[in-house]
Amino acid sequence: MHIPFRRVTSIPHDFDETQDGLNLKGNVVFMQRAEARLIANLKGDTNVQCYRCGDEFSLNINENLDFLVYDGVYKGEELDVIELEDSIVDFSQILQSEVESIKSDYHLCENCKDND
Ligand SMILES: [Zn+2]
Repeated sequence: MHIPFRRVTSIPHDFDETQDGLNLKGNVVFMQRAEARLIANLKGDTNVQCYRCGDEFSLNINENLDFLVYDGVYKGEELDVIELEDSIVDFSQILQSEVESIKSDYHLCENCKDND
């Protein structure tokens, strides 16, 4: 699912994207010039790797996301920014990059937690 940036208006555009057991649901709304705001909830289970023993385990995710969507290269102060390529808001790509950033975080499995 995706929408061209020029079609993002001040009326929130809802989206609902599911991939590999994870669901990203929310809306995107136009703010000003090249800026829009994306608010969403990321929910589901995904496999991550324990950074101590290397075992894979399932992690339950329920996260609220709040992003500035910027059509172009962003030079401002905001930290949670999605820069658009080709002026397209691509929800499946956004979901995928969120999943990748979760997977690259440090996670501890139950065993290693207990032995802490
Ligand atoms: Zn472990």
